[in-house]
Amino acid sequence: MNKTIDEIFGSLVFNDQVMKKRLSKDAYMSLNKTMTQGKALNRKYADEIASAMKDWAIENGCTHYTHWFQPLTGTTSEKHDSFISPLNNGCAITKFTAENLLQGEPDASSFPSGGLRRSSHARGYTAWDPTSYAFIKDEVLCIPSVFISFDGSALDKKTPLIRSMKALSEQGLRVLHCIGIRDVEQIDTKVGAEQEYFLIPLELYSQRRDLILCGRTLFGCAPEKGQELDEHYYGAVRENVNEFMKEVDIELWKLGVEVKTKHNEVAPAQHEIAPIFCGTTKAVDNNLLTMEILRKVAPHHGFFCLINDKPFSGVNGSGKHNNWSIFAGDKNMLDPGKDPANNLVFLLSLAAVIKAVDDYKDLLRFSVASHHTDMRLGADEAPPTQLSIFLGEQLTALIDAIIKGKHTNVTKDKILDLGVDVLPNLKLDGEDRNRTSPFAFVGNRFEFRMPGATCNLSTPNTVLNTAVAKSFRDFADQLEGLSVKDAKIAAFDICKETFKKHKGIIFNDDCYKEEQSCVRCKGACASSQFTGQAIEAADKKKNIDLLTSLSIVTYDEAKARFSVVKDFYAKKINVEIKTMLNMIRELYMPAILKYEKLLCELINSKMEIASKATSKSPKICSDVEIKVLVRLQSHIQEIYASMERLEKSAKSVRKAIKCGTSFDDDLVNKYMSELRAEIDAVENLVPKDYWPVPSYVDMLFYV
Ligand code: ADP
Ligand code: MG
Repeated sequence: MNKTIDEIFGSLVFNDQVMKKRLSKDAYMSLNKTMTQGKALNRKYADEIASAMKDWAIENGCTHYTHWFQPLTGTTSEKHDSFISPLNNGCAITKFTAENLLQGEPDASSFPSGGLRRSSHARGYTAWDPTSYAFIKDEVLCIPSVFISFDGSALDKKTPLIRSMKALSEQGLRVLHCIGIRDVEQIDTKVGAEQEYFLIPLELYSQRRDLILCGRTLFGCAPEKGQELDEHYYGAVRENVNEFMKEVDIELWKLGVEVKTKHNEVAPAQHEIAPIFCGTTKAVDNNLLTMEILRKVAPHHGFFCLINDKPFSGVNGSGKHNNWSIFAGDKNMLDPGKDPANNLVFLLSLAAVIKAVDDYKDLLRFSVASHHTDMRLGADEAPPTQLSIFLGEQLTALIDAIIKGKHTNVTKDKILDLGVDVLPNLKLDGEDRNRTSPFAFVGNRFEFRMPGATCNLSTPNTVLNTAVAKSFRDFADQLEGLSVKDAKIAAFDICKETFKKHKGIIFNDDCYKEEQSCVRCKGACASSQFTGQAIEAADKKKNIDLLTSLSIVTYDEAKARFSVVKDFYAKKINVEIKTMLNMIRELYMPAILKYEKLLCELINSKMEIASKATSKSPKICSDVEIKVLVRLQSHIQEIYASMERLEKSAKSVRKAIKCGTSFDDDLVNKYMSELRAEIDAVENLVPKDYWPVPSYVDMLFYV
């Protein structure tokens, strides 16, 4: 009999219900405190917890366990160890101790560390992160973990995220306390990650070397029809895609991932899945699991799930919208409520976010930077590379009124009387959505739209949380020491000054018209087209100070992170250049030359026939074939010239990998595009039978 959703949901998770059932009261209470309040786990219960976890896992078919962590590659890593512990008599028992649960030591030498491990001569250790639930995946008990070096340096994406959550909570609470709110124990950020992806036939995927090696197509001429008819968006889901989506839902529900929404996206063969928002560390873990399950389930239905920021040129890329809000207990601090002008918590939170984004836009841009994001940002249906904030007309009007407000009265019920006829009750749901903004206010949260489909959301959320923590710290520094009443007045002034100072980052128009937003922001926006420039702009004292002063990372850890992104960037481009050149040499040129030969033979034969013609026979002419041949020949020459240029510029990329230097990414990208354009033009000249790889039409418009 089929199971119901509530029977399936969380069935593979060592969740609160399971803990309650399987742990002693004291152990449960201790673990629960750790999970909900971030209190250190009492070590004396660790053995009991480990043993209960093992029994539960084995009853659910597990043979192995793993520490599941997020190295700086941004993906997830796991090394499986069995529960087996041999006895002296040739038999074995299963064993899983507190040590096994709390700490692992993967042979971590191959994970990127940005030089951190070399300098500290330390191995990498994984340590259980008890704030996320353990779960079962493919008969393996997965223990969510952080990854650190012997001296405690963070070697992963999760550790700084956890630290940033703590910093935001501490600094936010300081502000709330100043204005008389003392019944809140913790502030949390919540995230809902909308994940976009493409589904293409597996058989066609396996014939595209660029997709296999680079994750995106490096060649391919645009289909006759793209997404201009908007037929796909929210369209009826194909039956085979629907079967895939159903299996994904079930697998994710088993893992306790609260996936809720699924639909066809704008581009052909593009889809989206979104969960219900939750605490940020869990949301990031769940998003990584979602990507893994999408990829794993697709082949069961004959598909390959392409999670890439810009897999097809000229077609929408895939993003991962990061819906983000701040909660004080169960209250959303970014909810304007019925009377936003008098909602001081909302105004302070809004001011904190606006200041954070304006002050640290370079770091935010860096937090999503990758070679493939560069391809997506500023292209079809993706925000530009420079940051601005969309607030909408009503909220902007409120801010303007606050900036202009002649006086503020504090009355018993009302904190503010703006003295301006501003809408007392914002109808924010009625506000039109601006889908072109990189950072948009949507009713009760911000939607950060820059992260690409592959992005590990730990880094953008770490930066966001930290920058907002800094705003709160600055506010609290000004408010502490005042009476609650005075602090409320001062807090309003802080909002007013903050809105005034940072108003330039607000841009409510169409961000796809990039120049326009740049003019509006008076060039103040971070505008780095390519990752190389984004790293340079972000690797500055001001940004490192932010991260170190709030103890998110040390100076060395911060530097290491810049260097890992830089190294990855160069390596990815290098692989793409090599793949391009090899695809041309091994696939495209032989096919093109074969067709060229056919044309030559055809022309020759026709000429021979023509030479034997009599005055009475019909005229034989090969003008058209000659025209095609000439065009083909000129493209072939250009292809070779472009290859040479690219090969030359690739030297600077390889040097960057070896010596950590920079390279002219503008130029390298230009040469890659030029070479691609030549091949794509030839694709239109050569018959389909001759073309060695599946076309865009084949991959995107399958039946
Ligand atoms: P849309 O595509 O219209 O933006 P979706 O329903 O696809 O909306 O996704 C919205 C996402 O935002 C969901 O994951 C949802 O749970 C999340 N979300 C809603 N409210 C909040 C909030 N206060 N904080 C963070 N995320 C939220
Ligand atoms: Mg959506």
